[in-house]
Amino acid sequence: MRIGMGYDVHRLVSGRRLILGGIPIPFDKGLLGHSDADVVSHAVCDALLGAAGLGDIGLHFPDSDSAWAGIDSLELLQRVQSMIEGQWRVVNLDVTVLAQAPKLAPHREAMQSRLAEVLGIRRAQVNIKATTTEGLGPVGRGEGIAAQCVVLLQPAPGTAHA
Ligand code: MG
Repeated sequence: MRIGMGYDVHRLVSGRRLILGGIPIPFDKGLLGHSDADVVSHAVCDALLGAAGLGDIGLHFPDSDSAWAGIDSLELLQRVQSMIEGQWRVVNLDVTVLAQAPKLAPHREAMQSRLAEVLGIRRAQVNIKATTTEGLGPVGRGEGIAAQCVVLLQPAPGTAHA
């Protein structure tokens, strides 16, 4: 089995939609980035790439490449899934979203379902948690939202990984 971790943070600004785990979330600000800046999907991509030993999201989808400008990050996740498909199976993934606001609990199940759907796994294999940082640091001041992900992969049937 292989474990991988992912971390991402983006700045919150006015005039952008807030997308987390592929789900549009009502809020007066959104995350700034080259893509839709979905920190949850980015952290999941990096965790998967890390576990598979395939580098990181910036290596595969550089922000210097206009092909990824404004892209739906679930499409990036779909591409990462294609890279590991046939080699690895996701056992489970666990995400922590760090945000002072908005409250994410009402959107948790939708995010879990969406990520599971893109990865071709059951929703029970995807866990999303959310926490504030008690007002501390840039996230606590509402300047951005961060996400962490840990994923466990097992070899796909018929593959032999060292
Ligand atoms: Mg990112």
